[in-house]
Amino acid sequence: MRSLIDILELSLEEIDSLIETACDIKKNPAKYADKCRGKKLATLFFEPSTRTRLSFEAAMYELGGNVLGFSEANSSSASKGESMADTARVVSGYADIMAIRHPKEGAPMVASKSAYVPIINAGDGGHSHPTQTLADLCTIKNEKGRLSDLTIGFCGDLKFGRTVHSLLAALSRYTGIKVVLISPKELCIPSYVKHETIIKSGMEYTETESLEEVLPTLDVLYMTRVQKERFSYVEDYERLKDSYILTAEKLAASKSDLIVMHPLPRVNEISVAIDKDPRAKYFDQTLYGKYMRMALILFLLDEKQKNTEEKESPYRLVHGKKCTNPACICSTEQELPQIFKCVNEEEQIYRCIWCDSRAK
Ligand code: ASP
Repeated sequence: MRSLIDILELSLEEIDSLIETACDIKKNPAKYADKCRGKKLATLFFEPSTRTRLSFEAAMYELGGNVLGFSEANSSSASKGESMADTARVVSGYADIMAIRHPKEGAPMVASKSAYVPIINAGDGGHSHPTQTLADLCTIKNEKGRLSDLTIGFCGDLKFGRTVHSLLAALSRYTGIKVVLISPKELCIPSYVKHETIIKSGMEYTETESLEEVLPTLDVLYMTRVQKERFSYVEDYERLKDSYILTAEKLAASKSDLIVMHPLPRVNEISVAIDKDPRAKYFDQTLYGKYMRMALILFLLDEKQKNTEEKESPYRLVHGKKCTNPACICSTEQELPQIFKCVNEEEQIYRCIWCDSRAK
């Protein structure tokens, strides 16, 4: 049975078809209003969310289905020590499909191994966020007319910004994409994303600390919030939180057809004066997100009926190594098997299958 844990599990054709469905839903909502009649979506949110949870819920209601779930870890049995695997197995009996957000990296993947229904990763720690990527791709396709031949700047917290990691993975399969990574050194892109996504795919990239310098060259600017909740020391967050603030004066130097995106919530990175600028697309992005989640729910429920086999890992899997990432789900769920994938045979690079961190 298919789930959506990582954006790369969807082929380019499947992504195109999801975008097409999302656009059709937007145009003809009545055609879809009964598609999920009698079906239930469970939203298991162990971490705060506004857009992702509510857009999933709105998506299921607009498809004629129902929703159940919780929006904080404290109101679930996780607070009594229940494992992710057990929770997912139990909720499988109550819902037809599940969206899970969790602070631990790899938690939705763990759930997908024990659940009997499709699991959608709605954000796992600083790791990935594939449904935000679907919203982002739909926004770029609709607002720029294409998903290739674009210069895209990613600005802010590229270290902990899971939406950046997933979107870069998705973009690495399109042609003519140049990425400009704009961040302070402390918040630069993790090595696994740089090596296994950007460099491996041959995508052109540059790194800089200056937004002003590169702004005039960009077709898309993807701003991000500094992820306060992922810092070990509050002083580090305080020092870095205002690294970039996009103001109307700075925006004046950009192309007239630039689009400014942001997964939201915005804290201080984009001045509110920009909201009225036609280049600002971050609120449209939230709506595209709802339509893409509707398309995804329909797709996964359809795949479930077809009983599609889960694809085998393309990597060689090994046991006997230990994951040292404190944010990995295996750091709190001791029973989980420690499995590593060999992502580079020549250099013998092994990464944890749950969180992607490198074996020491
Ligand atoms: N809403 C996005 C996420 O859940 C971005 C953010 O929180 O900054 O990752």
